[in-house]
Amino acid sequence: MRYCCVIGCSNAKAKTDCRDKTFFKFPLKNSQLLQPWLKNIGRQGFRPFSSSVVCPDHLQENSYTTCQFTKRRLLKREAVPIIVSKTPKQIPKVGLTSAAADGNNMQPDGTKQ
Ligand SMILES: [Zn+2]
Repeated sequence: MRYCCVIGCSNAKAKTDCRDKTFFKFPLKNSQLLQPWLKNIGRQGFRPFSSSVVCPDHLQENSYTTCQFTKRRLLKREAVPIIVSKTPKQIPKVGLTSAAADGNNMQPDGTKQ
């Protein structure tokens, strides 16, 4: 089974919902292009094999061209995958700090004289 190499992504080619997706191989022969690929998949020290793939979830719509003969979507030569975070952003909880600051307690003093 081929898994998507992007960090945090669990898409695999054998999965039912990925069956009609085209997975893309790394541009192993193009070291200039390979660098941003490796950077963008988010795995440190990762070395792609010839069988390593990235699922199309990480490629933007403008990364493709359509082959005029087969009508299949082809990846543009300069296209680079991006990390798509599927986990929802966590909203940091703001703790309630005590708004009543001491030291400013005005006490009416009506007992004097
Ligand atoms: Zn993926």
